[in-house]
Amino acid sequence: MSNLLFATPKELTGWLSKLASGKRVMAPRQEGPSVVFRAYTAKELAAADVNALLKRSYSSPKQAILPQCETLVAFKSAKDPEDMSKLTTTVENPCVAEPTVLFGGRPCDARGFVVLDRPYLEGKFKDPYYAARREATVIVTQACPTVLNGCFCNWVGSDPADKEGSDVIFTAVDGGFVFEAVTEKGEALLAGAGFADAADKAEAVAAAHAAAAEALPAPSTLDHVQEKVAARFTDNAFWDKETVKCLSCGCCTFICPTCQCFTITDEGSQLDGRRLRSWDSCMTPLFTMETSGHNPRPTKANRMRNRVSHKFSFYPERYDGYFSCVGCGRCVVSCPVSLDIRHMVKAAVEGCDLVFEDAPVAEPAPVVEAPAPVAEAAPAQNPAPQKPASQKPSKGKSKKK
Ligand code: SF4
Ligand code: SF4
Repeated sequence: MSNLLFATPKELTGWLSKLASGKRVMAPRQEGPSVVFRAYTAKELAAADVNALLKRSYSSPKQAILPQCETLVAFKSAKDPEDMSKLTTTVENPCVAEPTVLFGGRPCDARGFVVLDRPYLEGKFKDPYYAARREATVIVTQACPTVLNGCFCNWVGSDPADKEGSDVIFTAVDGGFVFEAVTEKGEALLAGAGFADAADKAEAVAAAHAAAAEALPAPSTLDHVQEKVAARFTDNAFWDKETVKCLSCGCCTFICPTCQCFTITDEGSQLDGRRLRSWDSCMTPLFTMETSGHNPRPTKANRMRNRVSHKFSFYPERYDGYFSCVGCGRCVVSCPVSLDIRHMVKAAVEGCDLVFEDAPVAEPAPVVEAPAPVAEAAPAQNPAPQKPASQKPSKGKSKKK
């Protein structure tokens, strides 16, 4: 038995449906014009078209582990009717770490959690809310079948079939999907799936991975990017020029799989209230406003400098050279005024003004069931595997600067 398992689309949705009867199963879901990660019921999954579950989501899946808004602590106090000076208070920690399968994200999405793990789990103070959800979540990632507008994971030491951060990775091949466990958690999840052995599909998987890697535009060199972005810190003219169109909407940070800032607010009354943690954005003017009225980052240029420097200079400086951008390209395609972090990084490194030729937008071909064998006739064959444009191996795997 190899470590590769094969599932047809029906077997896959059946398995997800079975999982959803005991766990929260989150996957991409079309909602109006957007695709977002949402929980599915077992019934929905049993009837789902698998291609709908494989769409590229506009928002990142980080909400599965770091919710957009969560109650950290809630309290209720009751006065003693006999003695109004006495108060009985009960405090609740409502952290819910529901067993979760996060299905259908891309390798950059899975790597996003590795970026979040460092500030939330490493060091003296661990975040117990994040830790509990991280532990309770199994990440089942699809190797990218194609490259989309804005993708640049190969700039940051990754590729469209990177396994880092995933518990299971699967690849679309003719007639279905090939699954591979990456971690023990992933092995345990696949153990009960009942999928067939797929040792004979290893070549098709390698060819699919090579074709996706080949489709990415050549990466920009990020040699010494940490130092070069840091050296731009006082170059106000550079950041002013790069940021002139910015609307300070914060979209680039809210959809980012690695942006990690939050704010704490209290709501309720003296006798019944809760403390909330909500995502916040360093791109909005009030993020750094101090009680005195002083704002250390009052301009758009100051805030963009912080955002780009955090991804490519501050975070690598703190965490052994690792970037806090995984090259998913969401901020590139979603910015309403088309500001492009690749442009800023490249311009910071090379001191030039560059225009990029981007990869074409391409939707993956739908995966269809293999035809059933026909009685009394030669067995039906799966469609001939499509030859990838090239099988050149992906770029180097260095995750560091
Ligand atoms: S999405 Fe674009 S316009 Fe909005 S804050 Fe980010 S860079 Fe500025
Ligand atoms: S900064 Fe942009 S490209 Fe990088 S991880 Fe965040 S959303 Fe993706």
